[in-house]
Amino acid sequence: MDVDFEELYQSVILDHSRKPRNFGPLPDPTVTVAGDNPTCGDEIALSLKIDPQADKVAGVGFTGSGCSICMASASLMTLKVKGKTRAEAGALLNDFQGMITGKTPEAEIPKALGDLRLLSGVRKFPQRVKCATLGWHALKGALAQTEGAAKFSVDPKDADL
Ligand code: ZN
Repeated sequence: MDVDFEELYQSVILDHSRKPRNFGPLPDPTVTVAGDNPTCGDEIALSLKIDPQADKVAGVGFTGSGCSICMASASLMTLKVKGKTRAEAGALLNDFQGMITGKTPEAEIPKALGDLRLLSGVRKFPQRVKCATLGWHALKGALAQTEGAAKFSVDPKDADL
């Protein structure tokens, strides 16, 4: 890590862990998925509100507590997935997993990850990878559970179907 990267990493991670974005219970969620990482003591519950017409993540919120990497990663994730379609959120999830597990070579880490790229150094510390991915595992579960959510929305025209 060069000095600038390290400084940016510290400031962004500290900022998001102290003031996590989209933190708190989400009113009227479509789905809530909880997860924990016993090796570190991180516990998170992630809620999504899916707009069934657009198949978009209309709202996102998370609760729980964890170490700074866990909280910052979840906070940054919520900023990224809000307003995305479920497919876009899934693509982001794949990009992040490729980066954090080290499957994606450093030079090929997608720019679309934005500030999440600051977490790329975590790949060198397998114990901390679980901290960084906890919120994302919850996202994966939430996306899977809302698969086909659009099908269950009732359009008044189709009410008799
Ligand atoms: Zn942790």
